[in-house]
Amino acid sequence: MIQEKLRQKARELLESKAVDLVIGFGEGSLPLRVSPVFIRNPHEVDRLVWNSFCRQNLSTYLHKFKSLKIGLVVKGCDSRSVVALSLEKRFKPDQLFLIGVPCQRMVDHRRVKRAVQGEILHVSEQGDELIVEGKDFKTRLNRKDFLYPSCQVCVHRNPVRADLLMGEVVEEFSLLETHPDMKGFLNKGVEERWDYFEKETGRCIRCYACREACPMCYCPECFVDNSNPKWMEQGLSPSDLEFYHIVRAYHQTGRCTACGACERACPMEIRLTYMTEKLNQDVKELFGFETGVDPQASSPLSTFDVEDQQEFIK
Ligand code: SF4
Ligand code: SF4
Ligand code: SF4
Repeated sequence: MIQEKLRQKARELLESKAVDLVIGFGEGSLPLRVSPVFIRNPHEVDRLVWNSFCRQNLSTYLHKFKSLKIGLVVKGCDSRSVVALSLEKRFKPDQLFLIGVPCQRMVDHRRVKRAVQGEILHVSEQGDELIVEGKDFKTRLNRKDFLYPSCQVCVHRNPVRADLLMGEVVEEFSLLETHPDMKGFLNKGVEERWDYFEKETGRCIRCYACREACPMCYCPECFVDNSNPKWMEQGLSPSDLEFYHIVRAYHQTGRCTACGACERACPMEIRLTYMTEKLNQDVKELFGFETGVDPQASSPLSTFDVEDQQEFIK
């Protein structure tokens, strides 16, 4: 079982002092939830869990432990972020031990909650089924009906980089699929798309959970907090909200690994990945580049070549 293997490997790594810290997933305080755990003591490895709710991208925590050797649990998308961050020189090459887990696709706890009446007190998994229990009910759900949108179309579930792989390699989609919701969005006209964007961003409360959850958002001072120069006001005016979302998406161009962590963290359930997914597709089409897949290939927007096409300057 993957969970047991994870615990065993974490124990070995900590006991042998190959790493100072293991970052993985632990039981959350509520059913259907897991929390990141930071383990320094081999006696605490039993806090590690692996299930269908391990939704966070743990590479986002690497920025906080610059001087430690870290054992990091990575799914496919997390490992792509590690590759992208390593190209941006965010850590030393020998600082990480990547414990890779081929991903079974993650379940959206909010969709499960909406599918049942009453408070969920316990959830377990049996094959492809989720067994959801409350005070007066017990129901079986097919986990495939409750996957996150980004997981439904993910083409890199196997870690692209790992020092050790836990479990069997899973079959990958061969083509970059577009999520049906996203297809609907792309088929809209420009004005309709803008209306949708205005409506979605209009619900934003500027909590910045999306920024905090994203491994690629690591500037010590974000433009939204900068007062000199001041880029935007602190309120919730439509222009400020739209400005934040447009700049955030553009900062991810050629850097986003489609992990969906931003969208999963949003308390307002705003579809943040529409813009980043479209930009990912554009970068793939224009430059044949997918973030974090090739450890040698830097993002096209962070490199320069004298042969670059420059029609836009004419
Ligand atoms: S985006 Fe892919 S690798 Fe990441 S959690 Fe979803 S299925 Fe797994
Ligand atoms: S923008 Fe969202 S989907 Fe892209 S890397 Fe950041 S958290 Fe993941
Ligand atoms: S997490 Fe959601 S509500 Fe919070 S700033 Fe991001 S989009 Fe807005």
